[in-house]
Amino acid sequence: MSKQAMREESERLVREAMEKKSISIKKGDTRIEAKCGKCGTINKVTAAPGETRVKYKCKECGHQQNAL
Ligand SMILES: [Zn+2]
Repeated sequence: MSKQAMREESERLVREAMEKKSISIKKGDTRIEAKCGKCGTINKVTAAPGETRVKYKCKECGHQQNAL
């Protein structure tokens, strides 16, 4: 294997690893444990990938708020 081929091979492996990583981040929603600001109940909120603020309704008191 030439030096050129070896470099291309390692670059390809790095690129593939990065692609796999970004896919695994995209895959599946993030689970957030949000504490209700009104009654303090822990609500399990599902956030879409890349989302940082999620609106949810407290299961205990029905108070609407944002989970961070
Ligand atoms: Zn509540």
